[in-house]
Amino acid sequence: MASTVDRVYMRSPIWVQQALVAVYGAWWYRRRFNPAFHRIVDEFEQRERCTADQFHAYQATQLATLFGHAAKSAYYKPLLTALDTRDPHTALAKLPFLTKETLRRSATQLLTATPPRGTIIQRSSGTTGTPSEIYFTRELHSFELAVPEARNLRWAGVDYRSRRVMFGARKIARWDQAEPPFWRVNPVESMAYCSIYHLSPKNMHSYVKFLAAYHPAVVMGYPASLTTLASFILENGLRLPSARAVITTSETVTAETRRLLEQVWGCKVWDRYGAVECCLFASQCEHGRYHVSPDAGLVEIVDAAGKPCAPGVIGEVVATGLHNMLQPLIRYRLGDAARWAVDQSCACGRAMPILEAIEGRFEDICVTPDGREVLRFDTVFKGVATIREAQVIQRAPDLFHILVIPAAGFSDADVRTLQANMQLHVGDVRTEIVRVTEIPRSSSGKFRAVLCELTAEQKRGLTGRV
Ligand SMILES: [Zn+2]
Repeated sequence: MASTVDRVYMRSPIWVQQALVAVYGAWWYRRRFNPAFHRIVDEFEQRERCTADQFHAYQATQLATLFGHAAKSAYYKPLLTALDTRDPHTALAKLPFLTKETLRRSATQLLTATPPRGTIIQRSSGTTGTPSEIYFTRELHSFELAVPEARNLRWAGVDYRSRRVMFGARKIARWDQAEPPFWRVNPVESMAYCSIYHLSPKNMHSYVKFLAAYHPAVVMGYPASLTTLASFILENGLRLPSARAVITTSETVTAETRRLLEQVWGCKVWDRYGAVECCLFASQCEHGRYHVSPDAGLVEIVDAAGKPCAPGVIGEVVATGLHNMLQPLIRYRLGDAARWAVDQSCACGRAMPILEAIEGRFEDICVTPDGREVLRFDTVFKGVATIREAQVIQRAPDLFHILVIPAAGFSDADVRTLQANMQLHVGDVRTEIVRVTEIPRSSSGKFRAVLCELTAEQKRGLTGRV
């Protein structure tokens, strides 16, 4: 929603907010669930069983079209003029990376034509202030929902018509609203948006009551918010009716999170990975592996020097969107860290490349004094069941803070276990445990399990790599 609409919305009484969500929801529904949406879903379903060669050929065709459009933009024209694009994959590897900073500074320079009527500019805040501007044509908005429809919801056995609740970033209730409802229902889409900013112990019973009455088939949202709710439900011996699928997105899903959510909702968790810029898509199949959709975006994983990482080695995700011809994002550095799986075969039989996991943010890869890179700290919390939420922060090469929101029973013995686990898994570092009542979210409401405060120079010095 535009900022003016947002302001009016936030000042309105709850019944007006509810009416606005219904009206906005109906408009939004028509914009996205249209013939283009169904066409794109069909196309992605048809390509699902392509062989690796067929995917490669499809990418080559899309890349050639993409280069043709990109050559008309101020930014790409000089880069493409002298480039031999007869083999599009080879040509792609010769193009420079597009950084978030360049996208922020030069969003309009990337445009290949005058945006058609009905184009909406979506601004993503990011963490550094200046928003990047992504131009969404009607078609791109349909695409944004069609790919997860084909490769995530339908894999989970549900679809866009299923009754859903969403625990996402959208601010739908005033921060000082003290009484329920902390949700707004969009009846056209059978979707209830729940506020993740009001999930306090005081309000939790009202959420549980609402969910029991609304009985969603699909529970969607940030894993950390769903975990907060699920922990409360289990700790208080409450129950919710089963759902058909839990769909998580945007944050790393740990094994513990998965176990908790599956227990509370009695169904599988289907995690997916995308980007607001629509340049890539990956989702878990029925065997829990993360398949990249090679026909949505071409994904590379590169090291700090920009060289491709071998399978199993953690690096930064770089994506080339194969469908946004108005504002091409070519070799776009997403800032996320991931690894290609060493074993690229999956029992589901899909010939889509497999990511081992999406690890978090590339800049939050911690480096130990002996030069090892660490981003997942799940093992550090083994044997400590008295923590509601925690965040690991690397302050210096040999100093880590673990912020802990303690649950009942958290004791000095737990502190010692955490410190011992850090020694075991991370090495010879000092670990200070800091008890807190709240862990701040990013500007878009995301929970970050790990923060690294080392500079790029410090990391280079420790790893010995350039
Ligand atoms: Zn699979």
